[in-house]
Amino acid sequence: MNPIRLMAKLTPKTINLEGSSGGSKTIDSIDWTTAAHALVGLSKDANNWALYRFAGHDEKLKSVYRSLSMNIVLFIKINRYKLQPETLDGLIKAAVLEYIQPVCGVCNGAGYTNELNNQGECIQCKGRGRKLFSKRFMCEVIGINHKSYSNSHDEVSKELIRIVGTWEQQIMSNIHSKMGEVA
Ligand SMILES: [Zn+2]
Repeated sequence: MNPIRLMAKLTPKTINLEGSSGGSKTIDSIDWTTAAHALVGLSKDANNWALYRFAGHDEKLKSVYRSLSMNIVLFIKINRYKLQPETLDGLIKAAVLEYIQPVCGVCNGAGYTNELNNQGECIQCKGRGRKLFSKRFMCEVIGINHKSYSNSHDEVSKELIRIVGTWEQQIMSNIHSKMGEVA
């Protein structure tokens, strides 16, 4: 089974619908167990992301925010960025929002193509791999004036996206190895 489809088996809505329809209940609960099993061994951070992103557990969003905020601390310290706590919260919110956007149509999410800008990034998405929101909209989400958007905001934002990307890689490889066990 496709990993993303397997994750979708953990959707609370799916369980409720199948549970009340009777016939398919057994099959669905087996899938649910398989899906839950596929997440065993993941870090808490990656696990919360899997449930939020692929299984519709919106209540995990707060945990996702908390994980990001703990994971970004060192990066901010090393680079000596000065950020207001509420600005960091806004950057985290915006990063999650950006991450779940469709991939960039030019680089297909890679962040680079044959046509690079002078920083070696995709000209369309500037290395982010996603369809970009306008800076004005992002700053609204972050809660800052768009004129005060700085390089440090941008670097923190990219790092947050990278962290989520590593969770997603961990999820996929975890599922693949667990599915291998079953097969
Ligand atoms: Zn791109």
